Amino acid sequence: MPRDISRSLLNWWFKEPHLLQQADGTMEEFQYFFAQREALETVVYLDDVVGGKDKFDLIANMPIIYCRACQTRSRVGCVFGLSNIPDDRAMQLLANDLEHHWCPFTANRDFKADPRLVVRAEGVHYWNHWGDKVLDGASGLFCVPAGHGRKEIQEAVANQLGELDYGPHFQLGHPLSFELAEVLRHCLPDELNYLFFTNSGSESVDTALKVALAYHRARGDGHRTQLVGRERAYHGVNFGGMSVGGMGKNREAFGVGLPGVHHMRHTWLEENRFTRGEPETGAELADDLQRIVDFVGATNVAAVIVEPIAGGTGCLVPPKGYLKRLREICDRHGIVLIFDEVICGFGRTGKPFASHSFDVTPDIITMAKALTNGTVPMGAVAFRDEIYHAIVDRGPDDAVELFHGYTYSGHPVACAAALASQKIYRDDGLFERAAELSPYFLDAMFSLKDIPVITDIRGYGLLGGIDVAPSDRAGQRGNEVMKRAFRAGLHIKATADALLIAPPFVAERGHIDEICDILRNVLEAY
Ligand code: PLP
Repeated sequence: MPRDISRSLLNWWFKEPHLLQQADGTMEEFQYFFAQREALETVVYLDDVVGGKDKFDLIANMPIIYCRACQTRSRVGCVFGLSNIPDDRAMQLLANDLEHHWCPFTANRDFKADPRLVVRAEGVHYWNHWGDKVLDGASGLFCVPAGHGRKEIQEAVANQLGELDYGPHFQLGHPLSFELAEVLRHCLPDELNYLFFTNSGSESVDTALKVALAYHRARGDGHRTQLVGRERAYHGVNFGGMSVGGMGKNREAFGVGLPGVHHMRHTWLEENRFTRGEPETGAELADDLQRIVDFVGATNVAAVIVEPIAGGTGCLVPPKGYLKRLREICDRHGIVLIFDEVICGFGRTGKPFASHSFDVTPDIITMAKALTNGTVPMGAVAFRDEIYHAIVDRGPDDAVELFHGYTYSGHPVACAAALASQKIYRDDGLFERAAELSPYFLDAMFSLKDIPVITDIRGYGLLGGIDVAPSDRAGQRGNEVMKRAFRAGLHIKATADALLIAPPFVAERGHIDEICDILRNVLEAY
């Protein structure tokens, strides 16, 4: 009961922060004012459950009120004697108005009416603005394998900011990006030795597609302009990635996208429900690529892009032999094969890249997310040697070869964060740890199979997908489950009615149990 009071009150504060900041009155009036709104119980409850820094953080986020009688400003919590926060510190932490940030991939009105804010993170936990600890069951957005608050990354970033905060990368360079390229190439399949830096997964995907086109053109094969993607794929939100992506909602509001794009069928099959790891059947779905080639002409197809495991739409693990078959078709017809490893890359499958796990080497690999353990935005694209050489070795030595790049490509601070993250992965053996923890994680995930609302479970490495039966409107239940889980102390990602679970690699078995206990409680209520 007090929990609900605290929530409704906090929601009310967030809705009317201006009113509160401008309110003035005597302490007695304030006490009466809050008592009317059951604030007294709320504050007593908060005092019971939080202490120390948590209490400070919580109170510091409360709105400021001004006492006319004693002419002081105080946090709401201070009025009730919870903490003596110096006024200047309190003043720096004014409650925010949530209205003006247009949140991405978010139901903005619903979110702002009942916000879920995270204000601090450490290890495998977040703390929300109510002061509750929330287990991070999705590694943020699949990007924090080494856990939150890693000191090594903090120090590397701070030092780099002091040393070289920014350096342009067009016709100029700085040592860190070269060092990072060297580190990454040793983590990638042997044949991919050239790295191009971006700031996100979306930029990595668009870079990969553009380079595939430029590669064919550089070899005198410029008529290869058609691109192939797959249904239920997510390749980010820029025009290239959106066009080859296969999620209807991500496309329907944005016009026609790129011309000359074709889609293979997705690899989810009814018969493979509740398959752990790679499904036995479905490899023949790769022949869709051959059908497209037959339809548009082999010499017109530039590239095909797939996520080895389709992550965003619910962890669709490739059927056994599927990726190998794609590779064979690409080889037969000179098509560039791109693996989008933005989620899979850096250990999620238990090996450095999914390409290693499934023993198929593409021509291009895109990455982002875990590259910097989620700390600083950064993406990268790795290319086979012959792609780099075909483009870079032609033309005069002093002419730009590829008219593509970003102001922040290879940003020194991002490079510092990436180098520190990669060192942690290596020194702590985190990819091996992911592989070790995977069977326990998958056992726990599949133990939920008996829950009636669950219609499918899939999983590979430390990535799991759970489908829940849709309610009246597609996606409504998935969203509701995500919100209920958050209230119960667990962060997961929901895409439509698919729930995605991806714990940090530093999670303990106990954390996996906790994830599944919370999910069970939430899902059994349906
Ligand atoms: N590609 C894949 C496979 C992804 O999962 C994502 C994001 O989840 C992206 C691309 C886009 O990455 P970003 O959000 O960093 O642009």
